[in-house]
Order: sequence, then C-alpha cells, then structure tokens
Amino acid sequence: MSLLFPCSKSIVSGKKDKRHMAEVNASPLKHFVTAKKKINGIFEQLAAYIQESSAFLEETHRNVELDPITTEEQVLEVKGYLSKVGGISQVLARRHMKVAFFGRTSNGKSTVINAMLWDKVLPSGIGHTTNCFLRVEGTEGQDAFLLTEGSEEKKSVKTVNQLAHALHQDELLTAGGMVSVMWPNSKCPLLKDDLVLMDSPGIDVTTELDSWIDKFCLDADVFVLVANSESTLMQTEKQFFHKVNTRLSRPNIFILNNRWDASASEPEYMEEVRRQHMERCTSFLVDELGVVDRAQAGDRIFFVSAKEVLSARIQKAQGMPEGGGALAEGFQVRMFEFQNFERRFEECISQSAVKTKFEQHTVRAKQIAEEVRHIMDSVHVAAQEQRIYCLEMREDRQERLGFIDKQLDLLTQNYKLKIKQITEEVERQVSNAMAEEIRRLSVLVDDFQLDFHPSPVVIKVYKNELHRHIEEGLGRNMSDRCSSSITTSLQTMQQEMIDGLKPLLPASLRGQIDKLIPRQCFAMSYDLNCDKLCADFQEDIQFHFSLGWTMLVNRFLGPKNTRRALMGYNDQVQRPLPLTPANPSLPPLPQGSLTQEELMVSMVTGLASLTSRTSMGILVVGGVVWKAVGWRLIALSFGLYGLLYVYERLTWTTRAKERAFKRQFVDYAGEKTPAHCELHRFKLQPSSSAGACRDLRPALPAGRRDERRSREGDHGPESKD
Ligand code: GDP
Repeated sequence: MSLLFPCSKSIVSGKKDKRHMAEVNASPLKHFVTAKKKINGIFEQLAAYIQESSAFLEETHRNVELDPITTEEQVLEVKGYLSKVGGISQVLARRHMKVAFFGRTSNGKSTVINAMLWDKVLPSGIGHTTNCFLRVEGTEGQDAFLLTEGSEEKKSVKTVNQLAHALHQDELLTAGGMVSVMWPNSKCPLLKDDLVLMDSPGIDVTTELDSWIDKFCLDADVFVLVANSESTLMQTEKQFFHKVNTRLSRPNIFILNNRWDASASEPEYMEEVRRQHMERCTSFLVDELGVVDRAQAGDRIFFVSAKEVLSARIQKAQGMPEGGGALAEGFQVRMFEFQNFERRFEECISQSAVKTKFEQHTVRAKQIAEEVRHIMDSVHVAAQEQRIYCLEMREDRQERLGFIDKQLDLLTQNYKLKIKQITEEVERQVSNAMAEEIRRLSVLVDDFQLDFHPSPVVIKVYKNELHRHIEEGLGRNMSDRCSSSITTSLQTMQQEMIDGLKPLLPASLRGQIDKLIPRQCFAMSYDLNCDKLCADFQEDIQFHFSLGWTMLVNRFLGPKNTRRALMGYNDQVQRPLPLTPANPSLPPLPQGSLTQEELMVSMVTGLASLTSRTSMGILVVGGVVWKAVGWRLIALSFGLYGLLYVYERLTWTTRAKERAFKRQFVDYAGEKTPAHCELHRFKLQPSSSAGACRDLRPALPAGRRDERRSREGDHGPESKD
C-alpha cells in the first residue's frame, strides 16, 4: 500500500523500524498491533484521497461552463468507494486476534486462559460448568463488566466468584450463547494487544457443533485444543476439529496436553506417555487434518500444567516465589513448555491475524485506489484534451479577431470616405435645389395672403407670418426635390455598410443581422431660419413720386451712386435719408470716405450725362416749343406733372404698399439667403422608428417644431447637420 502513497507520512523512518522490531521481539503480538495501526493510517489517507477526488469530480461535473470531462457514473463510483473505504475502516478498527479454546469439560480450558492472563479471570473447577461461550476482551476502564448478546447493559463483576454466580443465572445460561467478559487492560498486558480469548462449553456436552463453528469459530485465528494428558484424544474432540477443518482453510491448531503435572507421579512412564501422545497428536494434525507439516508439528503440541502455571503466576504477581515453596517434580520444565507454547502461539496468531484480518482488506484497498486512480487518470486525460482543444480554439479565435480588426479598420476607412462623398453630394444637391427655390421665391411670396396695413404693429405680424410661410413652403419644396434621392442614397449606403459587416459575423448570427444592427432611418428637415436671416430687412413703403428728384437721380445715377450722392447731399442740407437701402447687399459706405469733390464729380457726371444724352435734346426741343407754343405748353406740362403726381398719390393704396413690400422682400431675401444657405441648409435626423423612414416631413419653423416635438414626446438624439 505504501507504494500507492510514496509521500505518505506513514512511511516509517529507520529509527521507527528499529523500535518496531524491538516491540515485536518483546511480544510477537505487537506485530499485529503495529500492522493494525499502520493499515488504519493507510485507510485514513485513502479515505482522504477518495474524499478529495470525489469532491473534485462532483465540482467538475457540476460546473456547466466546462464541457463534461467527468461522467455521472464516475462521480457515483468514487462516492461509492468512499463509503466502502469508510466501512472497511470501521471493520478494521474493531479487528482483533481471536483464540478459541476447545476440549472436553474439565480438561482445564478456563485454567489455561487464566494462566495466560496471569489471573483468575474465568471461574474454573469441577463444579463449574457453563454451556455458553465466554469471551475475554480488554477494556480501557478500571472495572470489569459483562456484556450479554443483544444487550448494551454492562453488568458489573468485581470478583471471579461474582462472575461465576452471574454465569449461573438462568438468563445467561442459554445454550450456545455468548457472554463477553470485559477485563481491564491494565490488569492483563495480553489483552492490551488486541487479543480476545474465547472459552467454550465442553465439546462433549453438545451436539450443536456445526452451529458453534458458524457462530463463533469462523473468525478465530488460532484454535487451542485443551486435552487431558491423562487420557487419549477423544473422538468428539477429533470430530470437532475435522468439522472446523472443512469450514476453514488450514486452521491454526495447537494441542495442549494439560494436567501434565500428573505424569510426575509416574516418572518411569512419562517419556513413553509423552511419546505416545506426541505420536497420536502429530498423526491427528498432520495425517488426519493436514494443517501442518510433520516438521512443524512439534511447535504445535505441548505438555503443560495450566494449574501450576496459574498458581505460580498469581503468587509471582502477589510478590511471592513462583512455586509457593513446594515445587512439584518437573515444574520448571512444564513452566518452560507453557511459556514456549505462549511464544509459539503469539507468533502464530499475530502472523495469521495480520494475514487473515488485513490481507484481504489491503488487497481491496489496493483495488479501490487503483480504480480511483484509473478514474482520475481518465479525467486528467479528458481535461488535457479539452485544454488542447481550448488552446487551439483560442488561437483560432485570436487569429479571426485580428482579421476582423483589420477588416473593420479597412471598412471604417472606406465608409468614412463614402460618408464624406455622400455628404458632399447631398450638400451639392441641397445647394442647387436651394438656389432654384430662391429664384422662385417671388411665387411663394405672392402666394402669401394676409391682411396688410402699413402700421408698424401689423407689419411686424405680417413679417413673422411671411417668414413662417416661406420657411414652410421652402421646406416643403426642398423636401419634394431632395428627400427621396437623399434617402435613397443614404439607404444604399447603409445597406452597403451592413453587407460589408455581414461576412465578419459568425455564420449563425448572419441571419439576425437586422436585429443586431438596426437599420437607421433618417427624417429630413430643412431649417432656413428665415426669421433670423431676414431680421434686418427694412421695408420702404413711403410714397415716392416716379418723377421726383430721388427717383430721377436714382434712375440716372443708379442705386449705388444715388445713395452716395444723397448721403453727401443730405450731409450738406441736413435732410433725413430714405429708410431702406436700395440694395442691402451692398457694403455700407465708410463714414467720411467720400469727399465733397467726389460727390460733385458724381453729380456733375450725372448731370453731364443727362445733358449730354437726352437733356440737351429736351432743351433744344423745349426752346423750339417755347417759341412755338409759349407759356401754354409750360402750363400744360406743369398741369400734366401735377396730374401724374395726383394719380400716383391716389393709386399708392395699401394694396400697392403690400406689393412694394413683397417685391422689396423678394429682392432682399434673394440676395441674402443663398449666402446663408451654406450654414442653414437642412438637417438629417436619425429617426427612432422605422416609420420615420417614410416620414420625410419638412421642417417647421422653430415655434411649431417645438410644439410638434412636445406633442410627439420626441426626445430623440440631437440633430445632425
Ligand atoms: P474446564 O471445564 O475445561 O474449563 O476445566 P477447568 O479449568 O474448570 O478445570 C477443571 C478442574 O481441573 C479444575 O479443578 C482445575 O483446578 C483442574 N485443573 C486444571 N488444570 C489442571 C492441571 O494442569 N493439573 C491439575 N492437576 N488439575 C488441573
């Protein structure tokens, strides 16, 4: 067994071995005691090893993360071994050497047992007979007691007489029953060494030999036939051992020819009688039973006087001389023979008991250890295989991960480029569409219908509503023009991205790609910020006579020069300027940047131009007409001029003012909006639902957008430009 546990603490050192040998020399029974300790230790270790293995297997089997490397059968098998080893350990702990004494009544069986125990433990004598078995066993306590079969009750016995009395009580006299005499170890060293001595009723008084053997003899390590040396071996005695021999393989049998002290009275026949007994006993053991060889038979047959040995030992124990003063003839020889018997018996029983009591369990323990090792080996192999598989798997996945990483990098770069391209394309589309819409702005403005009034309050409201109308109209028109094409290119792009990612997913997940990568829909909105863009628009709905000074200068000098001229003139004459710049897109004139000469040049140039081109003609014609028609014509001209003024003044109605307002607004917005379009073109808003894919609603003005958002509970992501 120690080979199984090379590191076991149970490996005794050389020092221990020597001590062990010394113990064995002192008493051969120690051999059994030492072997028992050792085997118990080994079984404890075996139990711990199996316990650990069982716990490991159970835990491994329960672990669902691991592929099963253990089977339920293995777990149960090892668990089963654990309980088996536990059972064997318990049996081993109870193991002892057992010697059974048989012989006819009054041959001296009890006396032999007492002599071996150095004390009168069992009652003996002609008058004492018992038909039950008496088993003398050691106990750790100081008091002797009796245990009867099927009862836990300890019956106290202090003296051998009490025991004799107790044994004669009716209930203990059951034929073939067993009574255990528990005797303090401290009183009998022999009992300390796990030896159990069993006295039997005389084999001449029973016919139940078979049941005796089955009940009490099968676990006996040594049988001692106590014969009477004053007579020959009886047939009943022989018959019993023949039966034992058929049930047990080569039982260890000793024959004690007791009462050999009687031979001392006839010394002349002693040798002859001894030779005859020896002859017959040897023949019985060797020829009839075949349990020993003829050469070994001498070590199994002894001529003793148990009575002498017992009394000598009791006296010695009491501190008196062995023979009690009157030593019978040949006492020392008989004493030596008894001691020799004891020695041979102890050697035999310890050897035999170690073999019979432990060998079988040792072999079983070896088998169990081997089987557990086999299971653990197979688990180890399975774990190794799984480890290799996992390593390969990890390597494979790392490679794939690296590949996917690279592919993702490539795809990302590619998509970034495409996103840039699509952004530029969308910008271009929106820009073109916006330019087109701005060109057609007058149509939108003309569509706008609201009561107009020149009062500042009404104009403010009118402007706000106009902004809103334009924003809605432009948004709608932009949506009609661009949404479908932008959405199509976005969806195509999205599909391209998904198709690009698809091969990187595991095959099992490819079918679920729509769940893994939800398709992002975009709602498109166009936010022109019309109210902000046109915040500095200032209408001019004052009446301007078409032949008035300002209009004429404007006509002849152009809006730019008119403004410059009028500003300079106004500076000189301190008159207020018209409120609206004719062309708001023109850069403002720097203060004081025009000199008086420059203005004069401008005016003279204009007048010169007037003079040079048409005015000269008019003056020539006027002079001719003056001569021809005189003051009437002049009066007529002034009349006509006045009529025209009156006409224009009368037709400058609210409707005309609204028209002028709209025209000025169109001019202003037309010049300003395209420049701002670069910043406020449109918004692509990732939609939270697929339904939004179809909901390509034009953006509402800020106020309405907020209303709509709060109505719809829209807390979607921030808009992306
Ligand atoms: P058991 O019935 O076989 O147990 O025999 P016991 O031990 O009770 O002995 C019966 C009687 O034989 C007792 O009176 C003993 O004293 C006596 N006896 C036992 N051994 C010897 C012996 O060696 N020599 C003599 N002379 N008497 C003995």
